[in-house]
Amino acid sequence: MSGIRPTGLLHLGNYFGAIRNYVKMQEDFECYFMVADLHSLTTHPDTKELKANVHRVLAENIACGLDPDKAAFYCQSHIHETAELYLYLNMMAYKGELEKTATFKDKVRSHPDNVNAGLLTYPVLQTADIIIHRAKYVPVGKDQEQHLEMARNFANRFNHRYGEVFPEPSAFNYNQDLVKVPSLDGTGKMSKSENQMATLYLADDDELIRKKVMKAKTDSGPGANNSPKPDYIENVFLLMRLVSADDVIRKFEADYDNCSIRYGDLKKQLAEDMIQFIAPIRQKVNAILEDEKYLRQVMEQGAEKANRSAAATMQLVRDAIGLNYY
Ligand code: ADP
Repeated sequence: MSGIRPTGLLHLGNYFGAIRNYVKMQEDFECYFMVADLHSLTTHPDTKELKANVHRVLAENIACGLDPDKAAFYCQSHIHETAELYLYLNMMAYKGELEKTATFKDKVRSHPDNVNAGLLTYPVLQTADIIIHRAKYVPVGKDQEQHLEMARNFANRFNHRYGEVFPEPSAFNYNQDLVKVPSLDGTGKMSKSENQMATLYLADDDELIRKKVMKAKTDSGPGANNSPKPDYIENVFLLMRLVSADDVIRKFEADYDNCSIRYGDLKKQLAEDMIQFIAPIRQKVNAILEDEKYLRQVMEQGAEKANRSAAATMQLVRDAIGLNYY
């Protein structure tokens, strides 16, 4: 189970941190993937763009290979019982632990005028989204590690208090470290809303991709053979490892090690490889977005599957808590 908020254009971080695994996991597991529209209200209360954003996130995931016939692919707000589970979990979540969450502290800093209770309890709603399907594996990027730890705590707390209902959820990346795709300026991670010129979006056209990649931070090259790479150079190589062929990567690694590297050439190559990767996805997204009837059918089909799974869990939850008086 996993989700992505409809708060803007999807980017390479979303793809390599999350969606790439959705596409693999749908072949191996019973999967639930959602557009986290309710979560977006914690920071984006203005809903003028919401419908268009929800459609775009649906289309972008499908264009990347998510198959709505294999995985349940739905909107969070179409599963009303999640709100009920969120309420029960809120009674087991403590103010102190919620206030310590890194993402909460970040959001307080970036939106000091809107520190609402939904923002504080974001990890509780996220836990409800996950455990309502009694999910075990949650494909997410590295930025979500702390939230998953909290989800594990809340699920265990429920089991401890009311009896075993939930498996322990954990972040999942096929036994590999969780991924963090860095921004092109080396100052943080690629993100939907911040750092837009340093983030590569799946909607970027070829020229914009070239422009962004050519502006990636580099320097005049290593001063001695086999030097360690500064972070921002490692970042450029990391991006190259995501989209370029093995022999291309080996060539530039060797050039770096023997001090003959030309970053201009590396960035030109990286830009072309990025374009090869992004352009076909962008074209598919545009085609899918034109077919509103198809998107509606995807949402209905996904909601039906997800509601069935949620209803079964909620019966267990109410029984375990003791909310059964007949
Ligand atoms: P937010 O709502 O905080 O913007 P997202 O909707 O962007 O979160 O996150 C969707 C998924 O993409 C999550 O699994 C998250 O871990 C992943 N993700 C987001 N940015 C990156 C990144 N730069 N590198 C790796 N994974 C990322």
